[in-house]
Amino acid sequence: MTQKIPVVEKILSANDRLALENRARFDAAGVFAINIMASPGAGKTSLIEQTVRALQGKLRVGMINGDIATSFDADRAAAAGAVAVQINTGGDCHLDAVMLQSAIAQMDLTSLDLVIIENVGNLICPADFKLGAHKNVLVASIPEGDDKPYKYPGMYRGVEAVVINKIDLLPYVSFRMDFFQDGIEALNPGVVQFALSCRTGEGLQAWMDWLVSQVAGAKRF
Ligand code: MG
Ligand code: ZN
Repeated sequence: MTQKIPVVEKILSANDRLALENRARFDAAGVFAINIMASPGAGKTSLIEQTVRALQGKLRVGMINGDIATSFDADRAAAAGAVAVQINTGGDCHLDAVMLQSAIAQMDLTSLDLVIIENVGNLICPADFKLGAHKNVLVASIPEGDDKPYKYPGMYRGVEAVVINKIDLLPYVSFRMDFFQDGIEALNPGVVQFALSCRTGEGLQAWMDWLVSQVAGAKRF
């Protein structure tokens, strides 16, 4: 955390400070947290459902769902076996650290290993609001088109993993995977990527293996 002291002290925004507090809460409880961002309909909730099901009996999973008005997604995660907390943002198009703080206050973090945060479906401002998660994950999907890294660079730059969902639709839409991945690579060189289909299950194992290894790595401390 303290490699070097900058000449001019960075003034953290109120949000960033709270995000650090949230992170400290997770760390103190031995919880690994991921923040999942995507456009609406990319398959965040489907990925979370599949993930929660696959982890049953292995990791204790909590889920925080940010939605503008409904609790459908939190209900789906709860049905899949997660401890779910719903944040209705009241129209706001992103989660922020304050909302996350109130959500984790409703959870017994010490009884969990992994908290999955489903951000509001939006490719713009969620990237600007740190929450305190250990990893930020972007879910892209084939039907959205292969130009998204070029149109939403801020989102692609700020994540530690990219999931490319709905690869089962590749035969039916024009989507140049190499063009798409070149765009990602230019913005975020070496970022880990998973091409998968939540519908067919293809490619899910690599995502699960990565996630479990991330949680295990965090638990060593
Ligand atoms: Mg959803
Ligand atoms: Zn927003």
